[in-house]
Amino acid sequence: MKGTINVQAENIFPIIKKFLYSDHEIFLRELVSNAVDATSKLNALSRMGEGPTDLGDTTIEIKLDEKKKTLHIIDKGIGMTQEEVEKYLNQVAFSGASEFLEKYEGKVDDAGIIGHFGLGFYSAFMVSKKVEVITKSWKDESAVKWVCDGSPEFTVTKSKKQERGTEIILHIDEDSKEFTEEARISSILEKYCKFLPVAIKFGTKEEQEDDPSGEKDENGNVKQIKKEVDNIINNPNPLWKKQPADLSAEDYSAFYKELYPMTFEEPLFNIHINVDYPFNLTGVLYFPKLAKHKVELSKNKIQLYSNQVFITDSVENVVPEFLTLLHGVIDSPDIPLNVSRSYLQSDSNVKKISSHISKKVADKLAEMFKNDRADFEKKWPDMQVFMDYGLLTDEKFYERIQPTYLLKNTDDAFKTFEEYKEQIKENQTDKDDNLVILYSNDAEAQHSLIAKANKKGYDVLEMNTPLTSHLVQQFEMKMEKVQFKRVDADALEKLIPKKDTAESNLTEDQKNAITPVIQNVVDKEKFSIQFESLDDNDPPMMITQSEFMRRMKEQAEVGGGMFGMGNMPDSYNLVVNSNHPLISKILLEADETKKGEMARQTADLAMLSKGMLKGEKLTAFIERSVNLID
Ligand code: ADP
Repeated sequence: MKGTINVQAENIFPIIKKFLYSDHEIFLRELVSNAVDATSKLNALSRMGEGPTDLGDTTIEIKLDEKKKTLHIIDKGIGMTQEEVEKYLNQVAFSGASEFLEKYEGKVDDAGIIGHFGLGFYSAFMVSKKVEVITKSWKDESAVKWVCDGSPEFTVTKSKKQERGTEIILHIDEDSKEFTEEARISSILEKYCKFLPVAIKFGTKEEQEDDPSGEKDENGNVKQIKKEVDNIINNPNPLWKKQPADLSAEDYSAFYKELYPMTFEEPLFNIHINVDYPFNLTGVLYFPKLAKHKVELSKNKIQLYSNQVFITDSVENVVPEFLTLLHGVIDSPDIPLNVSRSYLQSDSNVKKISSHISKKVADKLAEMFKNDRADFEKKWPDMQVFMDYGLLTDEKFYERIQPTYLLKNTDDAFKTFEEYKEQIKENQTDKDDNLVILYSNDAEAQHSLIAKANKKGYDVLEMNTPLTSHLVQQFEMKMEKVQFKRVDADALEKLIPKKDTAESNLTEDQKNAITPVIQNVVDKEKFSIQFESLDDNDPPMMITQSEFMRRMKEQAEVGGGMFGMGNMPDSYNLVVNSNHPLISKILLEADETKKGEMARQTADLAMLSKGMLKGEKLTAFIERSVNLID
């Protein structure tokens, strides 16, 4: 029999080739998935007592004939009757697609549309100049052969095929000869078919086995003989499809290695997802150890599957951005797979799934906190970037996780917000009733400031992830009357002002007299001079950087925050302690040269304690200091 494929557009094949998928390799995923579906359908039928009772071996075979340049996908599934061939291969698949193409031609993005519109089988034409389908239905009718050379004409004839099932033969096009290479096919199978639920064979491999004669070698071990065995490329029963109750920690760890053979680091913990209502979602997410500054590197490790068929490993839009830091597998038939990214974003199933995952993760963290606080604290450094990221980007996650968020101080003690507020409220409440939380981003460099704060009975937190300034901003917004200040943002008295500022020792005239002397010895563009009445135990001069300016700049550098601030030069305050006797001494010094030198030495000391005195200036400072000792 001859016929014409029911297409409105005159010839759809060139369009299939060019537009639909930039990724031609997915044809194999589509065809193998069809083979798996056909096998699963037969299984289901026989379970219901309607199909054959003994299915025999249902392994799907992929065969490559490098000489003939053909690729065969052979299944032992339900097969198709002639009527079904005509119905499925000739009509149904195309009507939807041609309609779609009329509407969207030229607008299809990289993700393509094939599977979604039932073009799965036709993706074979992306790589083939001719496709043959030889199929025999389980219903014991004679087999049929369908042949199509890429034009809308096809032929259907009888076939002698004896075995139940379908064989698809692709005559690979000259343009696509990469798909006649064994290594290429092998890697595509590895990528998309690794966890398909029916065994898939691709060629054979050699295996060692005990010599049946039991003969031993010189070491007394049974001799090994080589044996050709089927090369089964998949694990049909992957861990995420099993019941969590049946699995041990070792099973999870072994599966992690199966997913990421190149990773040696053990994950921190895992979350097994198993939902069937109101949507279907299974999977295992692993929480990797996150090095503080390597946020970008560990992304894109989650693999997205639909009924065990690999779809993609870029899951942006399917899970909230911060969850892309996790590793593992998500499997859901409810995620529309072959549609554009912007469509995914607005899909309500995707939204529900995404918030479900976020909730599962938060629940797991809360449970770990409750069950074993010490262990949770131990894992905290590896989780913190993730927590920070989540708190910042997902409102609900913030609400769920805030009670278990840990603050770590410079003595390595961990506190929750509630505990911490209780601890510091006595000492660290300022005159306007704000609770001031002090933090340091570098305990080593800010040692003297931290020591001074501790001496005053203040606690100092350690906060130094790339997200810190976004994070403290977020906490301030969410919590009432709580302020975060980095220890070097101002003089200690000013960080937590307890009463209105003390009277200054210096008159305005005196300040005006000393200002140019100091300006002379520092970079005027970078430092603005500010007089403060500090304690006379405080240094005569110190360098601070306003909390606000610094945060804006940091935020702009990480992305976000005020536009353009990232390019701004750093600006600092040179705080002059007007109560310090040395400042009065400089003021009163009559010898202009000496006055300048005294100012320079004092300013340099301030720079030095901030780690800002470098190069030539540092050398000059050391020489001057040596002369002073002489
Ligand atoms: P989809 O799989 O999305 O339905 P396809 O174009 O891939 O679209 O396939 C169309 C139909 O052809 C399938 O629904 C199925 O009924 C039939 N079919 C395809 N491949 C096979 C196969 N290997 N065995 C039996 N039936 C098949």
